[in-house]
Amino acid sequence: MSDIFFNTPNWQQELSCAVSDVATLYELLELPVPANHHQPKKFPLRVPHAFVNKIKKGDPNDPLLLQILPDVAESLTVMGYTTDPLDENNHNPIKGLIHKYQNRALITLTGACAVHCRYCFRQHFDYGANLPSSDEMAVIGEYIKQDSNINEVIFSGGDPLSLNNRRIKAWIDMVSDIDAINTIRIHTRMPAILPNRIDDELVQILSSSPKHIVMVLHINHAQEIDDILAQKCQVLKNNGVVLLNQSVLLKGVNDKIETLCQLSWALFKMGVLPYYLHILDKVAGSAHFDIDIQHAIGLYWGMLERLSGYLVPKLVQEVAGKPYKTPIDIYQITKTAIKD
Ligand SMILES: *Cc1c(COP(=O)(O)O)cnc(C)c1O
Ligand code: SF4
Repeated sequence: MSDIFFNTPNWQQELSCAVSDVATLYELLELPVPANHHQPKKFPLRVPHAFVNKIKKGDPNDPLLLQILPDVAESLTVMGYTTDPLDENNHNPIKGLIHKYQNRALITLTGACAVHCRYCFRQHFDYGANLPSSDEMAVIGEYIKQDSNINEVIFSGGDPLSLNNRRIKAWIDMVSDIDAINTIRIHTRMPAILPNRIDDELVQILSSSPKHIVMVLHINHAQEIDDILAQKCQVLKNNGVVLLNQSVLLKGVNDKIETLCQLSWALFKMGVLPYYLHILDKVAGSAHFDIDIQHAIGLYWGMLERLSGYLVPKLVQEVAGKPYKTPIDIYQITKTAIKD
């Protein structure tokens, strides 16, 4: 048995104990179990105890709870909300690789996540057809090498950190061997959901790559941030990992100026800079989280007024077919037209 076994907090065990039964979740949170609670079979409830512990007990409107609790509204068909709002299926040249933007290619390492976010834009993505095997890793490597425009590789999913360290290392090693690549970026919600996933061995793997490592966290509300997460961020930073955050603007979760400002401050306190604030992608089943664009712009003006420039994330929207994430034109609504 290697000493790694003893040093590693057992995040995999935490993951296997994740809550998947809606009635159990209500009980843990000391909430009455509604008679008609929604228990979807496809994209079911999934949330580790480490995240459940951050949810306030007895509050059915807790902003963390709303992100993970299945809602009957998910089964409604709403016009304009589709299963592939980003047109990713058309930019999927080889299995496991999405190449929409010139200099950066995104690899879907896995379909698995520690948590099922109810608004997730990839909830209908056909991962089964898209998970690269070890042979396919080599094919992806060849694709990246052949396109001299590509200088950054993004690990995504699902959540790439739901893979074990051995597999993460294989991917990091593969990309680290490509000269033209400067940066490896990891898009992950894992630190906020299961901070113990950031174990010593993972940090060692990341810090031993010769490439710049950027980790883009996904945190939507300051209440997701606690001491363990802050400690893990410190370790990552000490090992040269650049930390950014992306959030999704979600009705009932973070659609207040004050909430968004608190988030930026709390992120920066642990050394993370806000990167993107995304307008919700119109994915089937998520319409009840959507905020109209006028309201979003109003919130954004409020952030501009209250936050240091470097704490204001870019407000963007994914527009199918565009070669970048599209900045929202905030001048379509003038500041004076907004009432706070
Ligand atoms: C979001 C995304 C990226 C990264 O875009 P940045 O603007 O560099 O953060 C790359 N590829 C795909 C397919 C994406 O959806
Ligand atoms: S962690 Fe990311 S990919 Fe996974 S369900 Fe949540 S938003 Fe979707």
